[in-house]
Amino acid sequence: MGEDLEKLKQQLPLLDYLRQQNWSGRPAGQGTEFVGLCPLHPESRPSFYVNARKNLFYCHGCGQGGDLIRFVELSLDLSFPQSLAYLQQQGVPAGAADAREQAAVFYQQQFLCHPEALRYLEQRGVHDPALIEELHIGYAPGGNLRRHLTNQGHSLESLQRDGLVNPQGGDALYRRVVLPCFQDREVVNLYGRSIGAAFPHRFLPGPKGGLFAWDSVRHFSTVILVEGLLDLAVLWQAGFRNTTCAFGTHLTPLQFQQLSEPPARVVYIVFDQDENQAGQRTAHHLARCLATVSVPARLVELPAGHDPNSYFVAGAAAADFADCLEGAHPL
Ligand SMILES: [Zn+2]
Repeated sequence: MGEDLEKLKQQLPLLDYLRQQNWSGRPAGQGTEFVGLCPLHPESRPSFYVNARKNLFYCHGCGQGGDLIRFVELSLDLSFPQSLAYLQQQGVPAGAADAREQAAVFYQQQFLCHPEALRYLEQRGVHDPALIEELHIGYAPGGNLRRHLTNQGHSLESLQRDGLVNPQGGDALYRRVVLPCFQDREVVNLYGRSIGAAFPHRFLPGPKGGLFAWDSVRHFSTVILVEGLLDLAVLWQAGFRNTTCAFGTHLTPLQFQQLSEPPARVVYIVFDQDENQAGQRTAHHLARCLATVSVPARLVELPAGHDPNSYFVAGAAAADFADCLEGAHPL
């Protein structure tokens, strides 16, 4: 029993488990400690500490602390044996982040030998080589990732569990430009944008890790929120480095929490201008929710039918977009 317990805790480090649950922590002090908002009680200032080396947590807000099992007991209101059974069922792929990291690097290398990937990005208005490198943009031609990663020592089973390889044994991402999603400098997911006829958007299973590049964006006093990574790419390229992305219009609790955490900021929401007004309605709803936590929001209107990406592809310049921001209105 005790041995099983130790093995389980080694296979599934507390920090990995918390990240899978969308917990976002930043390094605190000496490397192995992280701090973030407490998942066990409501709070607006981070007081939940995780020591990755000791595999323990402690919250200065609610006074709870312990190991992975204790955390599961508290967060899911389970008994000790129930928590243990729950964790054993999770079947969490040990080293999954590792495989995704290696896949991201491999796809970046592939990008260089498949000119169709750069051609696609150029059609989508992204052409700055420094930005392409900064965003770690890669390309999945399909059909060669599985061999590469099994050569690196990953089992087929683990790659399938992690979603990089599909149940039929083929690569999950095929003819897609790939943008990795980072959290605390780790690749937590991969976004694949189809360059062909396949469904345009694809993520691997599991969380996407909060707002994109939140570490670099959170310090701005105004933040631009967009739907997609290609919207973000053209805006960063045009100098709007205060842009983040929620991978869609429906924010996860973590993403919402991030927008409302200190320091205070004004959020400019730039969702797609759909003809059926869906994007506008979602933006309104989000602005109202933000108002309830005292975060002022502005609704940005682009010319009809445009999203930030298509607006720039259609020839808009940074000054045009700045005008749209200027004309943005509160609720
Ligand atoms: Zn707490």
